[in-house]
This record gives sequence, C-alpha cells and structure tokens, in this order.
Amino acid sequence: APAETPLVVIDAHGLPYLDPKLPVRRRVADLVSRMSLTEKAGQMTQAERGAVADGGDLTTYALGSLLSGGGSTPTPNTPEAWAKMIDGFQLRAEATRFQIPLIYGVDAVHGHNNLAGATIMPHNIGIGATRDPRLAERTGAVTAAEVRATGIPWDFAPCLCVSRDERWGRSYESFGEDPALVESMETVVQGLQGRANGADLSRDDKVLATAKHFVGDGGTEYGSSTTGTYKIDQGVTKVTRAQLEAVHLAPFRTAVDRGIGTVMPSYSSLDVLGDGRGPVKMHARADMINGVLKGRMGFDGFVISDWNAIDQLPGDYASHVRTAVNAGVDMMMVPYTYKDFGSTLADEVEAGRISERRIDDAVSRILTQKFRLSLFEHPYADTTGAARIGSPAHRAVAREAAAESQVLLKNNGGLLPLKKSEKVYVAGSDADDIGNQTGGWTITWQGSSGNITRGTTVLQGMRAAGGNVTYSKDASAPTDGYDAGVVVVGETPYAEGVGDVGNGHDLQLSAADKAAVDKVCAAMKCAVLVVSGRPQLIGDRLDRIDALVASWLPGTEGEGVADVLYGTRPFTGQLPVTWPRSEAQLPINVGDPSYDPQFPYGWGLTTLTHVPRGGAATLRALGVAAAAAERAGADRTGRELVAEARLIVQQKAGQRITAAVAGPFADADHLLLTGGYAEAVRKLTQAYRAS
Ligand code: BGC
Repeated sequence: APAETPLVVIDAHGLPYLDPKLPVRRRVADLVSRMSLTEKAGQMTQAERGAVADGGDLTTYALGSLLSGGGSTPTPNTPEAWAKMIDGFQLRAEATRFQIPLIYGVDAVHGHNNLAGATIMPHNIGIGATRDPRLAERTGAVTAAEVRATGIPWDFAPCLCVSRDERWGRSYESFGEDPALVESMETVVQGLQGRANGADLSRDDKVLATAKHFVGDGGTEYGSSTTGTYKIDQGVTKVTRAQLEAVHLAPFRTAVDRGIGTVMPSYSSLDVLGDGRGPVKMHARADMINGVLKGRMGFDGFVISDWNAIDQLPGDYASHVRTAVNAGVDMMMVPYTYKDFGSTLADEVEAGRISERRIDDAVSRILTQKFRLSLFEHPYADTTGAARIGSPAHRAVAREAAAESQVLLKNNGGLLPLKKSEKVYVAGSDADDIGNQTGGWTITWQGSSGNITRGTTVLQGMRAAGGNVTYSKDASAPTDGYDAGVVVVGETPYAEGVGDVGNGHDLQLSAADKAAVDKVCAAMKCAVLVVSGRPQLIGDRLDRIDALVASWLPGTEGEGVADVLYGTRPFTGQLPVTWPRSEAQLPINVGDPSYDPQFPYGWGLTTLTHVPRGGAATLRALGVAAAAAERAGADRTGRELVAEARLIVQQKAGQRITAAVAGPFADADHLLLTGGYAEAVRKLTQAYRAS
C-alpha cells in the first residue's frame, strides 16, 4: 500500500461490514444501513479518470468508480504506471467516511488492450471462428490475469452482440450471427471471472466481467427511415418478441447462468414489433432491465450504463437520471458530469421520484461485487503478477487463437499450406502492420495503423517460420519467378461509429488493396488473406484468387497466422457470419428464405491431414443433414447429394487425406435449414471430391 497518510482518518475499525468472516450479504446490509443518501449516490457514480484530476473529487463526492474508457484521456502505458495511478485514486477513495474502495474499470475486449506490450487476442469475431469454447475460456483467463496485475479489477467485456448485419462497424466485437455460437463462446466469462458463484473474484488473476450491450446491439437496422437516416451503430433494433428472445436475449440468459457480474445496456433503441411503443432507448427500458434481466433471468449483479448514454434519453437531465435509475441501471457511466449526476439523483430521491428502496438495491448490488472482489481487504494493486503480462505462455495462447481463427474459404489446387521451400512473394497493406491486424480498441480507442505495440506481423511470422519470403507492400513488380503470392489486405482500424449510410465503410477493399490483389494474382498463384472485422465483398474477383482466407483481426501474434499458412497447424476455422456476394444481399443470415451467399455460415475448409476423430463427427453431422433434408422435403438432387457426400465421407474416414473439408460438415444441418440446402451440399461434396 502507498506510504502516504489518508487525507481523512476514519476509524471504521470493528464495524461488521469490515469483517471478512461475515457473509457478503450481511456486510452489505450493515454498510448500506450506515450510508447517507449522498454516499449512496456516490457509489452509483462512475467518472472518467482524467476528469477527476488528482482524484480529490473521489473523496469530496464519495465516488464509487472510475474508468478509462474508449473516449478517455490517454492511458498509462506501463504496468507500474497503471498500478501507481490506480493506487493514487484508491487512496482518495479510502479517505471517505466508510473507506469504501473504488472499483476501476477498463475495456479489455481482446486482451489488456490499453497497455503497450500486453498480449492481444483476436477480436471476438475471430474467436467465434475458432468454434473452440475451451480456447475462448483460456483467452479470457489470459486477459484477466494481465488486467488484474495492473490493479484493475473490472473489465467491460465480453460483448454478447449477435451480429445480424455486418455493415454494423462493431460486428468484429461479435462472436457471430448465430446466438447458439455466441452462447458457446461465453466460456470466456469463466476465463475472466472464474467460477459462476463469484468465489474466484478475489484472486489476483480474475476480474469482474460485463456482458454488453443489453440488448439487441447487433440487430440495428441499416438505411433510411421515414424520419431520416438510421445510424446503424447505436441505431434501432426492430424485432418481434420471438426474435428478441431467440436471437438477442438468449446469450444474456447464458451469461446470467454463468454468473456474470455486471451488464451494460446498449446505446441502441429497441422496437418490439407489435408492442405499440415504437423505438425506445435501452437505458430507458424498465421492462427489459428490471423486468427481463433482473426479474425473469434473476440477474443479481449490477447494471452499468454505457458512456454518457443517459444523455441520449429524452427530457431534461433530471428526467435522464430518473428514467435510467428507475429502469434498473445501478451505476452511471457519467465521465464528465459526475457532479451533476450525484446531486440530481439525491434531489430526485428527496422529491420521491426515485424510491430509497431502488437506491439501496443499486448500492447493495455494487457493494456486493466490491466485497466479492475483496477490494475492502486488498484495495491497492497487487502487481506480483505483472511479470506474466505479455509472457511467452500468454502469447502462446494468443498465437493458438490466431491460428484457430483463420478460415480457409477457398483453396484451389491445395495451394495452402505453403511449403517452406517455396519462394513466396508477400504483398498488401496488412502484411506487415501490427496496428491493422489488432484493429480497434488497441492502445487507443479507435486503434491505428503502424507499429503501435509489441507483436509479430504476418510477414514477420512467415519469416520466423523459416519461409522463403520476399515482401513489397504495394506489390511493385511481382514477377513470375515465385511459387506463390500471399496478398494480405483488408480494413484499417476503427472501434465505434462505423457503418452509417455514406460514411465510406462499405465492406469494399481499398483501391490499393484491389490493385495489389490483381497484380499478384495475375502474375502467379495467389493466396489472399483478408484482415478485417467483418466480411469484405470479394465478388467476381474470387475467380482470379486461388486461395482465400478470412483472417479477421488476429491480434499481436502474427506467428499464429504463419502457422496455418505453412501447415504447422491445420486450418480449422469456420465462418462465424455469412460471407455475402454483394452489397445487395445485406443483411444476410443463415436461415434467410433466399440464402445464396458467397460462402455460407459455418463454411471453412480444413487442411487437416486426417478426418477429425475418424470422421465420426462428420458422419453424425451428415446424418442430421440428411434428416433435415428429408424433413424439408428436399428435391431429389438434394437428397442424392447428401447420400453421395455421406458415401465419400465413409470412404475417406480414417484414411490419410489432404485438404479434407470436415469443418463445414459440422454445420451441415445449419446449411440445410437455409433452403439453399442443395447448393450447400453440392459445395461440400465438391470440396470433398477435390480432396
Ligand atoms: C462503448 C462501450 C464501452 C464504453 C466505455 C462506449 O462507447 O459502447 O462498449 O464499454 O464506451 O469505454
């Protein structure tokens, strides 16, 4: 603990709430019973750390929480600086009457992404592509260990958004378009928090997690409405009650079951068709927060608002506060308006417009998590684990995740994996750029291109693998003296606000990227890697590309990408979202009536040299597929194709084969439910035959 003396010395010694032997419930009740209204309002307030200067306001306003958020002032960039800063603030919090520790939160959405040198994981869309819940859990555990080692006990992650229209710029924060996939990846919550009963939160390698954004953030509508242009980010989600339940609420149900500690409402509005209310901002939806989340689902953690989100509610400031608190928001992320919030809240309670009971409930929920995190016993940063930040063991997990997240969409002539003896020409804007391959929420909020943190680029990974590689970013003078070209193209970083009509982010590769692809693919056999937060429209250009890989935003470990390129590990990733043919198809999701994408949901070739698990899993999936085809009244061709595919699998099962396509079969039932089943099966069969 810091050596300085607290500003105000209070002798809380001996009070029941300080006794760690008492059950948390009793400690909370004891403390709440002693607190004034102002102190309670303070606990419900979260300010931005730059706004509180040296932290004196933590004492003055008895603030409960601070954050470094996306829009925050620049963050420290060493573990020591983080810990020292937070300890300094904690000292101010400890100087309040009841010495209630503050809880500090950050967005560590793919590793400890605020800290230079930390291990950066693939963004969630890539994690979804791995289809590997155990790995997702391990990425969460690495993130938690690195975050807590800098004195931060709270992480605003994971995003449980179900991305239904990839024009939404935050699609990369989604595990995928299918709620079942999102739910299966929620093992990450255990990685972050530990056991569902909260018993691990006091550990020095676990953090409190936040399921966000409740609810329907991934379902916002693109385009124009009669009232003007919709923003797709923070826009309106129009759904039937049934769609709301099945698609958007389901992942939150799972998170509650997994003991999620906090939930963040969405900036977006929800328009439940037929309820007569029209679009209502989520921070005002008492029916959803109080009713569904806390009531029906039994969520017993606390609800933290999004950044300044209450300012988007209708009416004056008092009405913002009243509406959000009465809807069930327990703590308000009011980065710069924290003084107004506290006093307004107190006024509203005094005027009887917010009940004391509601306030006590909110404060009790917040304090419960602080007790679980052992903040009362250990308020100051425990940096003993700082050595594990960016450690080889942690980077190995990120490398594995990067490798498993790669989705092989096309592989003519078995171009991939490359042989190390082959002479490879590497080009493209994302081949050698850590900033581009880590994307948004890396070092800064929106991220940026360039050498922003420690890691290996795809190019460096290929070189480290011992590849015979020549590199030219803009593909100048590619000659045919090469065995193969690898063109790494894609998006430049962004975090939020992307996807609105006409803002230039239209799922198109840049002109320079297209030129690089065309040049290289005209000169030699080429593999194109797309580094992006969501599918990019490849269109007819696909015909000129021999191998296509969706690399997503793989993080700091480019060696993981090199692992699959050189066959050290097989490609096993599967599409977490549908890959469209054209802009006109958007939004497109598996199950749509006329589903005809470039690559269907779940697609992914594999370079496994054995049918996994002797092909048993594949056969099982085909059985399901055949049954689904029957049920759906498949035409003759459809059924024949299923039968044929099954036969091929039987013949190949257990044999040593190259370029098998076992991956897609795991999702064969999905593909067949699309109505485009015949095409799906045909593709699977062709791919199998080719192997
Ligand atoms: C984002 C949240 C994030 C918060 C704090 C908001 O703009 O929507 O996901 O947790 O900022 O940084």
